[in-house]
Amino acid sequence: MSKVLLLLTGGTICMVRNAKTGALHPADMEVIRHHVPELLSSEIKVDMLPFTPLIDSSDINPENWERMARAVYDHYEEYDGFVILHGTDTMSYTGSALSFMLQNLSKPVVLTGSQLPVGVLRTDAKENLLTSIEIAAAKDEEGNAMVPEVCIYFEDCLFRANRTTKRNAEHFSAFNSYNYPALAKAGVHITYQPHLIHYSPLNSSLQLRVQTDCNVAVLKLFPGITQAVVHSLLTTDGLRGVVLETYGAGNAPSAQWLYDELKNAVKRHIIIVNKTQCNTGSVEMGRYDTSLNLMKAGVLSGYDITTEALLTKMMCLFGEYGDDTELVRQWLQKEMCGEVTIENS
Ligand code: ASP
Repeated sequence: MSKVLLLLTGGTICMVRNAKTGALHPADMEVIRHHVPELLSSEIKVDMLPFTPLIDSSDINPENWERMARAVYDHYEEYDGFVILHGTDTMSYTGSALSFMLQNLSKPVVLTGSQLPVGVLRTDAKENLLTSIEIAAAKDEEGNAMVPEVCIYFEDCLFRANRTTKRNAEHFSAFNSYNYPALAKAGVHITYQPHLIHYSPLNSSLQLRVQTDCNVAVLKLFPGITQAVVHSLLTTDGLRGVVLETYGAGNAPSAQWLYDELKNAVKRHIIIVNKTQCNTGSVEMGRYDTSLNLMKAGVLSGYDITTEALLTKMMCLFGEYGDDTELVRQWLQKEMCGEVTIENS
């Protein structure tokens, strides 16, 4: 019998409505046990590990990521796979962070949640949870895990977590992976796409890397952005890394002041990575004059990575390599666990 560990962190899936305020708030793990009795009767043995208190994912922080990563690491040998119940709002950040914290995975870690609480009649919670458990337990003919990655399962799609973005606050199909196809689709059957799945090197063993450094920021460009705003962000005390959200194929205004601000920041060893504001497609520095300046200032390309993955990758790399900025720069230009497609690699 396969064994899956179900970690509960909170999110709408575990919530109930407060009769007085009308607002949803997290309950406890009994709400899941009560509304999903199938957990006991399935052919997969499911053990539950609640993180108390359960929280709305807006309150998630790197300590919570560390706790989740450690729970997987500590119970790694006992289970065939792991499912994490999590709010949808920051699930892509958590999934991305876990993919960098749990290196060389050979078992699935599937994050899921729901748009409607588990106790509501039309809820999407049951399907999401039960299919995630099935995916976490799924093996190929040789007994290896079908999807040994950190993934997000939602509605009927399984995505690589570090490729996802929450795209919809209303529809059941809340996530998308704009630059990488789904790893599996669930209908009557669950159809896996083995050629798209990331496998760790043979004979490698799981490594836990939970150090993070939160001195990172996102700078989103917009027409009319002032030097004062850019200067104030780039001279923030302790700042180490910046996700620069640019236009189109990675373009920015050609104002001399912007070039100077970026160049001076790079000189102060702040790493700046160019990430397009478009959901789909890749940064192509040098395609237009308006990105040549960024190259000259020492800004790196983020290629087709998501903001969620880039930000958490920076946090993990700065946490791990501390002051070795050169090493962080090198890793930011490499793929670690399927989070980016780098041309010619
Ligand atoms: N606010 C909730 C959360 O992220 C939303 C959800 O779970 O869908 O925890």
